[in-house]
Amino acid sequence: MPRLLERRWYSPRVFEIFLERDTWEFHSGDSTLIVLPDRVTARPYSLSSSPEGPHLGFLIRLLPGGYVSSYLASCELGTELGTTPPIPQLDLGRPGDMIWIATGTGISPFLSALRYRPNQPPLALYYGVRYREDAVEVEYLKGVCNLHLFVSGETAPGWHSGRITPERIPVDPNARYAVCGHGSLARKLTDYLKRHGVRDSNIAAEVFFAS
Ligand SMILES: Cc1cc2nc3c(=O)[nH]c(=O)nc-3n(C[C@H](O)[C@H](O)[C@H](O)COP(=O)(O)OP(=O)(O)OC[C@H]3O[C@@H](n4cnc5c(N)ncnc54)[C@H](O)[C@@H]3O)c2cc1C
Repeated sequence: MPRLLERRWYSPRVFEIFLERDTWEFHSGDSTLIVLPDRVTARPYSLSSSPEGPHLGFLIRLLPGGYVSSYLASCELGTELGTTPPIPQLDLGRPGDMIWIATGTGISPFLSALRYRPNQPPLALYYGVRYREDAVEVEYLKGVCNLHLFVSGETAPGWHSGRITPERIPVDPNARYAVCGHGSLARKLTDYLKRHGVRDSNIAAEVFFAS
């Protein structure tokens, strides 16, 4: 089973872990189940690393009282964790006509795609967090794509204030949309875009938890 090699904290709530590569290949936009050493407890996580990277990366929000996120936040480096073959969630293969929207650790698949092909950005990336320090790799993302960062819980100079709402996303019937993170935004945005003439087939969502 792949060993935990590194844990990188971005804020007290958000961290990234890097595991040894398992035997399988993956695409940006895939997720896998991380299985704890008891071989029973498992949760899905989206891959944040490049498919060509040396390790498997996962960006995780530490939920107070959350069983697996707390375990992954505190277990020893070297712990053996199981993974399952990749589960395709979002197709991010041809980003040139795409608009990407992420809330929280929902940035993970987009980070993977931009780490893989930094010279193939989407039309725009909308990224919402509560606190500025929870936003990961902002300088990198700003350097490789048209980043719109929204901070809802405090004032962050130079960035948008408040939550991402559907009205803040441009409507382009020729664009393809991928949204990842909180279920409530995915639902509202999908309804909004469809009402404004975007075809259902041009909207894809990966929901981490319903809210
Ligand atoms: C396809 C898929 C991909 C996912 N990818 C990621 C990822 O890349 N990064 C990541 O951090 N999470 C991701 N998740 C969520 C992840 O699988 C776990 O649900 C999450 O880490 C909580 O697990 P836990 O065992 O710590 O909490 P649990 O002990 O299972 O639950 C704690 C409580 O918190 C609620 N909850 C779950 N998630 C959240 C949240 N994000 N914010 C607030 N409350 C929540 C649950 O409904 C539950 O009531 C993904 C989920 C899915 C379905």
